[in-house]
Formats: sequence, C-alpha cells, structure tokens
Amino acid sequence: MSEPVSTSVFDIFKIGIGPSSSHTMGPMRAAQLFCAALGNRADVTRIVVRLHGSLGATGRGHATDRALQRVLPAQCFDPERDIEWLPDTPDLPHPNTLDLVALNHAGSVVLHHRYLSVGGGLIEQVLPNGQRVRDSQAPPARIIHRVSSAAEILALCAERNLTWWQIQLDNESLVPDEVFRKLDTIWQTMRECIQRGLTTEGTLPGPLGVRRRAPETYRLLQQPDVRLPLRDPLELRVHAYALAVNEENAAGGVVVTAPTNGAAGVIPAAFAATQDVHGFSSEQIHRGLLTAALIAGLIKSHASLSGAEMGCQGEVGSAAAMAAGGLVEMFGGTPQQVEMAAEIALEHHLGMTCDPVGGLVQIPCIERNVMGAIKAVHAATLALGSDGQHRISLDQAIEAMRQIGRDMHTRYKETARGGLAKVVQDGSRVRC
Ligand code: SF4
Repeated sequence: MSEPVSTSVFDIFKIGIGPSSSHTMGPMRAAQLFCAALGNRADVTRIVVRLHGSLGATGRGHATDRALQRVLPAQCFDPERDIEWLPDTPDLPHPNTLDLVALNHAGSVVLHHRYLSVGGGLIEQVLPNGQRVRDSQAPPARIIHRVSSAAEILALCAERNLTWWQIQLDNESLVPDEVFRKLDTIWQTMRECIQRGLTTEGTLPGPLGVRRRAPETYRLLQQPDVRLPLRDPLELRVHAYALAVNEENAAGGVVVTAPTNGAAGVIPAAFAATQDVHGFSSEQIHRGLLTAALIAGLIKSHASLSGAEMGCQGEVGSAAAMAAGGLVEMFGGTPQQVEMAAEIALEHHLGMTCDPVGGLVQIPCIERNVMGAIKAVHAATLALGSDGQHRISLDQAIEAMRQIGRDMHTRYKETARGGLAKVVQDGSRVRC
C-alpha cells in the first residue's frame, strides 16, 4: 500500500523570493541547514558548494549563486571561487543535487552534507547510508485521514460526507484558526505580488531584455477600442495577473511557491481574477488553497513537482491541476468535480518540456503561467458544467505524467539544453 499523502499546505505555499524555488529557495534552505549543523565551529575557513545536474546547468540563470551568498557566511564563501558547476555528474540521486563542504585552513573536510532540492523549495538530506530525510518548515502533518490516491479521497468523501479541503485541513497539525490565519498571510502575499507586478514597468534582469507586460495587459480592461479576439473581463484579468506574478518572480521579488516559483502565477491569477469577478470570501479562498494543496500532495507522492524531474508538466501542469480543483471547490462543486477538473488541467499539460531560454525563468515560463491559469479556469468550467463522471482519472493522469517525466530526455528537464533554449542558443533558422 502507498504511503498516505502527508504534505502540509504550508510546504506547498511558502513565501520566498524569485526566480526559482528549486534553484534559489531550495539551495538557500540547504545552506541554512548546513550552517545550523556547523554551529559555531571556529576552524571552518572555506565552504565549497558543488552544484550537480540541473543546478549546475541552469544555476547561473536561476541565481543560485546569489541565493547561496545570502545565507553562507561571507568570510568562508565566495561564489566566484567556491561554487563548482557540475551539470554532467553521473548517477545522481536527484537531478537537483548539491554538496556543501566545509574545509579548515589545511583544506581538510570538517563537514560534508549532500542535499536534494526536490521541487517547490523543499529539501531532502542524503545521509551517508543513502537514506533520504525530508526537511519540512511546516509543522508535521497529523494524518487523521490516511489517503494515498484520488480514488481513496473520493471514497472517503462519499463515506464520511467530507470534501477535499476538509481532508487537508484535518491532516494539518495546526488548529483550524491558526491554519486560516496563516493562509490569510499567504493569500495577502499573493495579492501584493499581483499588485506590484501590475504597477511595475520596465525590463526584467538578465541578458534577454524581456519587457514587463503585466501593466499594459491590465490596461486593456479599460480600453474597449483595442480590438481583441477575447474581451472577457475574467480572462483578461487572468492574463494580467499571471504575467504580474511571474514578472515579479523573474525580477527576484517576493512570491509564494504554488507549488514552485516558476509556476507561481497560475493559482494567484486563477483565484484572484475569479474572486474579483465573482466576489469570493476569504473562507472560499481558504478552501481553494487547501484543496490545491491536497492535489499537490498527491502529485508529489506519485510523481514530482520538480521541473528537473518532470519537465514543465510537473510545475505549470501541477499548478493548473491545483488551481482547477481549487476553483471547483470555491464554487461549491462536488468532490468528483474537483477530481475531474484537476485531471482535465493536468491531462492537457502532459509532455510539456522545461526549456528555459538562457537558463532564466522568463521565456517561456512567464507566458506558460498565463496559459496554465487559463486552462485551469476552463477545466473548472468543464467540470462544474458536468456531473463529474469522466473516463480518465486524476490518478491515471498523475501516473502518465510520472512515466512521461521518467522517459523525457534530460535535456528537456530544466537544463536549458533542449527545446526553445537550444533553438535560441543555436540561433537556428526555420527550415524551408
Ligand atoms: S519552463 Fe516551466 S518548469 Fe521550466 S523553469 Fe520555466 S516554469 Fe519552471
């Protein structure tokens, strides 16, 4: 029997900085854990960081070096000197593997820890015997309801008259009022991120010269004379809000992982645009976020939320499934409709590669969040307009994602060596 889903909502939604949860927040957390393990040892004169796999391939573009610099002591760590970029290390336990090594003045190893950045800023430590120990910044889940699949969730909902959000809430170790208070902070941070993105003009950092487009997209709402194929106020808001969050993320601003930084715009855009148009209460937002977290927990248990493991189907695809299920819950849909919406949204992201141009979380990431959020809104609409009966289950879609992610060549999994990243790097022309 599979392990029960045990991921806290606060391990899925975490406040941090852009541009990448796996490449900035995860390594920062690993560095914090390493410094805590070192304690006050006075004999450490240098800390070397070995970045393997995807971290080695796209860590520069994703600002891993600057993230590590924020945490590691300046007298022991110089990113120019002390980072080893090792994209081709064979036989890694995870595509985002990093070693932190503390040395004394003689160059002898004082402490060596290996960490895995497993997606969404979450970290696991690899012990010398190979055992992987999960780090959680959230209080451990209580596991009142032992569910390990969407099918079990639906059965439990039917048996006990529960909903997806109630199952997640019951399994949180904090009391409900504390959960809701923390979710309010998460939601406020998402809203503030949207607002900053909508009001900040200019160009994003990095050599691509990508211009921020959220403000001009939002202004389209007040410009009926501009001819567009689509003028729906909800959908235009989704466009602008997703651009806003992911432009903030690309600029290194404060964002909430949802479930990752690269996919941080999907849920805020889908939820906030719908709230603005339909007037959702904070209680409905809580329910949406809790439902989304349970969907993320399922995906994390059976596949992965990491672009380095699954490609972008694991990031934006997962975020779209979470948003779609959450929206259905906010509209008072049935547990079957929640499952159906999440399945539809995930199904239509299967196979999506991670190929960030220049190793930056900008192209195609920013627009991908717009597309993911729009698909989530449409998936929720399809599910809410039906009786929730459908042919492909969410469990099957997650299993399909796992298999596709496993079969996908490494170059399409956050290495910037395939897809759009390669075509742009090569300056390839269209063949006639
Ligand atoms: S392409 Fe997708 S998975 Fe890859 S960095 Fe961008 S958002 Fe993340």
